Amino acid sequence: MLSASMDSSIKSKLLTTVNPALWHHARGNRGNGLFKVANRIYQVRGFDISTMTILEGDTGLIVIDPMTVAEASRAGLDLYYQHRPLKPVVAVIYTHSHIDHFGGVKGVVSEADVAAGKVHIYAPKNFMDAVINENVVVGNAMVRRAAFQFGPLLPRGEKGQVDAGLGKTSAGGTSSLFPPTDTIEKPTETRTIDAVEIVFVNTPDTEAPAEMIMYYPQFRTLNMAELVTHNLHNLLPLRGTQVRNANDWAKDINYALAEFCPKTDILISQHQWPYWGRERIDGILRKQRDLYKFVNDQTIRLIDEGYKPDETAETLKEPASLSGEWSAREFYGTVSHDSKAVYQRVLGWYDGNPANLNPLPPVEDGKKTVEYMGGAQAILTRAHKDFADGQYRWVAQVLNQLVFAEPDNKEARELDADALEQLGYQSESSTWRNAYLEAAQELRSKLPDATHWRINADLVRAMPLDAFFDYMGVRLNGPRAEGKTIVINWRFTDTKQDYVLNLENSALTYLANHVSDHADATISLDRPTLDAINLQQTTFRQEVLSGKITIDGDVQKLIEFNGLFDSFVPDFPVVTPSTASAIHRAE
Ligand SMILES: [Zn+2]
Repeated sequence: MLSASMDSSIKSKLLTTVNPALWHHARGNRGNGLFKVANRIYQVRGFDISTMTILEGDTGLIVIDPMTVAEASRAGLDLYYQHRPLKPVVAVIYTHSHIDHFGGVKGVVSEADVAAGKVHIYAPKNFMDAVINENVVVGNAMVRRAAFQFGPLLPRGEKGQVDAGLGKTSAGGTSSLFPPTDTIEKPTETRTIDAVEIVFVNTPDTEAPAEMIMYYPQFRTLNMAELVTHNLHNLLPLRGTQVRNANDWAKDINYALAEFCPKTDILISQHQWPYWGRERIDGILRKQRDLYKFVNDQTIRLIDEGYKPDETAETLKEPASLSGEWSAREFYGTVSHDSKAVYQRVLGWYDGNPANLNPLPPVEDGKKTVEYMGGAQAILTRAHKDFADGQYRWVAQVLNQLVFAEPDNKEARELDADALEQLGYQSESSTWRNAYLEAAQELRSKLPDATHWRINADLVRAMPLDAFFDYMGVRLNGPRAEGKTIVINWRFTDTKQDYVLNLENSALTYLANHVSDHADATISLDRPTLDAINLQQTTFRQEVLSGKITIDGDVQKLIEFNGLFDSFVPDFPVVTPSTASAIHRAE
């Protein structure tokens, strides 16, 4: 067991590889293969960041969370079939709306079998809304930031990526999505799927906006989805998303503790490995419940006592009864950034101090700071000394200002990278480690290549038109649209849906089930044509020429309209100043 003294002993010492506690955790996540949890319950672990659970029904298999990509889930199912009878998959359950829990569905079932009703797909309430919101509208920024959280661009090994907290890392390959055929709408619903009784409990706004846990009475097994993992989780992951509700998270664990724990012998989750034994499970559920309740309530206590976000993060530490438990430690989330997430949830980004209400942006702030400090060389001389004294946090902080003031200052970038690398090697949290090391790598070399980035085709096809037009709205380049007023009707010939789009005041709004009599142009097309354009398999212009899109009205106005949108590529600078060319990329 770790002691607090060990934690402090590694601070300010030059490390060359990995925080010892994270090393221990990373070894746990290395286990991979097919695992028998109990009779009729198997798990494929270590094929992806998530775990795929297989329940054996009377005639076929129930696959829970088919991982991120089809290649991984297919390989997992093949491994299962090498050891178990070749029974068909009759049901898939998505526990929640994160891609590592549904993206690999095509590896375990075919679209034809789902369409024919041979396979049912179960998901929690509001699943599709949550998927589209998170993965499409702010998807580009999230993809870029996820590189810092998970470290896919880092070399593997003790100097680079060793873990991602919940598992090794996300698998690469083909992501897909079949929308659910059966949604669990009520707070609690019991269903029998292929002779397996499943008690579903919706746990919205916990680890994901749409999530559910399950209890299997005949197996005396509780599946906590992603509410209970072998680490402190994120209330706001570094990739960014909406803040999660730690209070509801604790409540839902408490419900499972009261309702199911007395009749539970096995606790599984959709990441990592199980727990066996009622007493052990009782203890784990209590600690996990209290972990989220503690961070939530103690952050708010400090807020009410006047602490600012950085002060709260610095002050709050897990009580020894929690930090002494491996599964409550900061291998994924940290108390520091989770407490900031609680602050953001209850009070927002502003700390209440007007000095922070309208500060200079990073480049201007950097330039003035460098000037006040007596120039780059004066800063570097002091920073080298502080680095030697182990003051890595401060060195990274001050050199960040210098790098934003002078992005071409090689000595500043290198020393900044050295400091960030030390912070990475010290971090118990895998996500902090990955973020620091990715930042160091980007300071030392160039920006990552984003050409491998691909849109998830099934997500595009599954996207409701409202979401498509919302996304179009965020792609509108406001300054370029300034002064323009354009009205466009969109008529979908196959689905008989009509939309009218209105552009004025650099804002694009729409009304469903409406067309305008004085639109500048009316576009008629079918949904597959729109999908093909969105997937960049063709262009709008090409489809006009081919006759799949017909246009009535002012074609010139429509060309002007089509020229007002940006397209996004996840390769923008994060640890160095943004460049104009990277910010504004016209179609
Ligand atoms: Zn997950």
